[in-house]
Amino acid sequence: MQTLTIRLRTRTPLWTGGIDGSMDRIHETGLLGSLRWWYEAIVRGLGGWACDPTEGDRCPDRQGRYCDVCKVFAGMQSC
Ligand SMILES: [Zn+2]
Repeated sequence: MQTLTIRLRTRTPLWTGGIDGSMDRIHETGLLGSLRWWYEAIVRGLGGWACDPTEGDRCPDRQGRYCDVCKVFAGMQSC
């Protein structure tokens, strides 16, 4: 496994509020969820496969394959 470090600078205010709607800190899971959502949209828009667990379509499939999105986000951790 390789490590990829990405340094980002925001251009607009970030909102990653918690369950109570307050922005007390940056919630890393909110960032990853947003990045994943946009990456799924791009992958689907380009004809790729992005699993959808809400539809019972999740990774890995019966042959042990992962979708194009899970290949990037599986095991990704915030630091
Ligand atoms: Zn997947």
